[in-house]
Amino acid sequence: MYVTSGIDTEVQHTLETLVELANALADADAEPEGADVDARALLDEHGFSRAAAAPEAAIRRTTDRVRDLLPRLASLPDSDADEATEWINAELTEVRVAPALSAHDGSELHIHWTPPSATFDDQVLADVLMSLAQELCDRGTARFGRCGAADCEHLFYDATRNGSRRFCSDPRCASRTHTADHRQRRKRRSGT
Ligand SMILES: [Zn+2]
Ligand SMILES: [Zn+2]
Repeated sequence: MYVTSGIDTEVQHTLETLVELANALADADAEPEGADVDARALLDEHGFSRAAAAPEAAIRRTTDRVRDLLPRLASLPDSDADEATEWINAELTEVRVAPALSAHDGSELHIHWTPPSATFDDQVLADVLMSLAQELCDRGTARFGRCGAADCEHLFYDATRNGSRRFCSDPRCASRTHTADHRQRRKRRSGT
């Protein structure tokens, strides 16, 4: 994890990354023939600096482990903090959290939850589980939501200040919903 600002931003950024990966995996699983998810590229783009050079096996283990969590993650918008605490605590027993300070790649000094010797999948899982744990302590499950567009089951993490997010990160979801709302209003006005 590459972080230059406060822990709050790091938690939010990690949870947004987790949600993006979970949505991509759920989409791939929904394809009749299955589909590949480029988890390496996704994690690399989101600042996991070890992703680019991580071995194939570690990338595969990362996607497998996040895929195992999909039902749990999908339940977050409908769960309270107690329900989420139970499974997150169980998952935390599977990762070896060993904090270490790091200032890699010219970043500010920050805390990693795993030592540099940890496998890449252990690093990612420790990051996402510790971020989920921190989020539950600070805000419960309130910021996890499901996309408001028809036919979209994507999750989102709402990092807006006033909790106003309605759609996943696919820009088509917001635009087609607004178009539909607009048509509906026009239809009502014209009485047809
Ligand atoms: Zn880092
Ligand atoms: Zn959506």
